[in-house]
Amino acid sequence: MVDLMTQYQKIKPEVDSAIENVMVNAQFINGPEVKGFQQELEEYLGVKHVIPCANGTDALQIALMAIGVQPGDEIITPSFTYIATTEVMALLGLKPIFVDVDKDTFCIDPEKIEEVITDKTKAIVPVHLYGQAANMEEIMKIANKHKLSVIEDDAQAIGSDYNYTNGTKVKAGVIGDVGCTSFFPSKNLGCFGDGGAMFTNDDELASKIRMIANHGQSKRYYHDVVGCNSRLDSIQAAVLRIKLRLLDEYIDARRKVADHYDQFFTHFKGVKTPVRGKESRHVFHQYTLTLEGIDRDGLNAYLAEKGIPSMIYYPVPAHKQKMFAAFGSDSTVLPVTDWLTERVISLPVHTEMEQEQLDLICSTVAEFINA
Ligand SMILES: *Cc1c(COP(=O)(O)O)cnc(C)c1O
Repeated sequence: MVDLMTQYQKIKPEVDSAIENVMVNAQFINGPEVKGFQQELEEYLGVKHVIPCANGTDALQIALMAIGVQPGDEIITPSFTYIATTEVMALLGLKPIFVDVDKDTFCIDPEKIEEVITDKTKAIVPVHLYGQAANMEEIMKIANKHKLSVIEDDAQAIGSDYNYTNGTKVKAGVIGDVGCTSFFPSKNLGCFGDGGAMFTNDDELASKIRMIANHGQSKRYYHDVVGCNSRLDSIQAAVLRIKLRLLDEYIDARRKVADHYDQFFTHFKGVKTPVRGKESRHVFHQYTLTLEGIDRDGLNAYLAEKGIPSMIYYPVPAHKQKMFAAFGSDSTVLPVTDWLTERVISLPVHTEMEQEQLDLICSTVAEFINA
């Protein structure tokens, strides 16, 4: 689905010397590379605070802890997402309240949020799925009206622009109280291992987040709250500083691939190409088709047989995972989520895609559909 080997080859000298520099200086933890990356990402996102951590899942967990959740609190979130979003809720004794998604953007449907708000609701966690932001303007209106916190899961959409209806433009992930992202290698901004970060414009939340990520300590060996240990290491930060400078270029390359797929697939009956919502600039972490009247699993198997990778994100929505059986979540009715789960398929999209590869993928998909 991605070609990280070719991507590395193109930046090898720079990356190798940056990693060597970390080793020579032996500042493996919280060294100058981490600080440098933090500042550069703050600048890129236009946000006051970036707090790096060990991975995207930790980012989501720490963000929830920082807004002061209590066991039993309810968190509104989509079910059509990667499990990390909702798993951390269960881990903290919170109850995920699953809401259906918009058929076109694959993101949480703001119109379905208010009806599930109760006096136990504490926060909304929208997910900017596949690379475009949820309708944050509507979500923030609802959150402000009901005094709820908002934590954005920005693991798939870093670098995406969010467009307000009045024309203001900001980066996805800096609109809610906290934004969370992942630097897992295959993400749009990926490191050479695990990594993650939280973003916020709120000074008080930023210091809480820093404290929680560092064993709940504000002063060394004085631990005020229960926290955890979650750090981005210096080698990963050194890699990320180089790749951050290329992020916009990487996004453009992904968008070009998406343009090509769009052009090719628009004429196919039963194939719905991804809808690019007005509110967000799609960064195409995934290029996901919705198939109607076409055997999706058959296509997936056919592509595999021909040596072409494709993926189903995600074959089982969160509310139907055994993990949540005890929450009674499987009785939640989410028609759009269920409908999409059976029809979506993601094709390879990455920064190193050659025209020949694209043509081969397109013609192989066409072969199956036309057969
Ligand atoms: C990747 C991902 C995460 C988790 O990130 P890790 O770094 O793998 O822990 C969370 N949410 C979404 C939507 C993701 O795609």
